[in-house]
Amino acid sequence: MSVAERAARERKIATAEAVVEACRKCPIGYTRTHAVYGEGDPCAALLVVGEGPGENEDKAGRPFIGRAGQLLDKMLLAIDLPRESVFIANTVKCRPTLDDGVRLRNRPPTPDEMANCRPYLDEQLEILRPRAILALGAPAAKSFLGPRFSITKQRGQWFDGPAGIPVLATFHPAYVLRMTGGELEATKRLIWEDLKAVRVRLDAPTPEPPPPEVEQASLFDL
Ligand code: URA
Repeated sequence: MSVAERAARERKIATAEAVVEACRKCPIGYTRTHAVYGEGDPCAALLVVGEGPGENEDKAGRPFIGRAGQLLDKMLLAIDLPRESVFIANTVKCRPTLDDGVRLRNRPPTPDEMANCRPYLDEQLEILRPRAILALGAPAAKSFLGPRFSITKQRGQWFDGPAGIPVLATFHPAYVLRMTGGELEATKRLIWEDLKAVRVRLDAPTPEPPPPEVEQASLFDL
């Protein structure tokens, strides 16, 4: 990727991030500490998409920096992808919270929150134009592949996602962190298969753009 293209993407990301930082479309826009736009290489081949920021991410304004993030870093490194080499984002940019009277707890984003935030994710896809998307967990997968997507039955397979970008879903690292024993080992094996499929996809040669069409008439127009 050229230096000029990288610089152009960096500028677009900075502009888009400022818009997200000012967004108050949802009530969680008022309870958050920081919007978490996402971070990583603007020229990354892989876009990793999680559900939404948790408490640590909300405080720091950065995605996946808590325990789930540490596991995500290990997962990516297992296929030779240092965190800095990918771009990491979420389906929603503000921390979805539930006030239990004592403290704010994490909760999954609502369909309204995901819909409000979707233009920001779409814009990220447009700027980054990644070769592949890794969706972490059912909400992220469903946001790309529709509400009928089953993470247990359809993870590890490539699907045509937005703008034709291939999407593969795997289990969310936070889900894995809640497991123990045999269930944990079995899930880790499945995730490893999924990660290897990502590696294979990224290692495949980039398809050449189709040659420009030559008008039939001009072939004989000598
Ligand atoms: N879980 C997510 O889905 N996203 C984050 O950024 C952190 C935890």
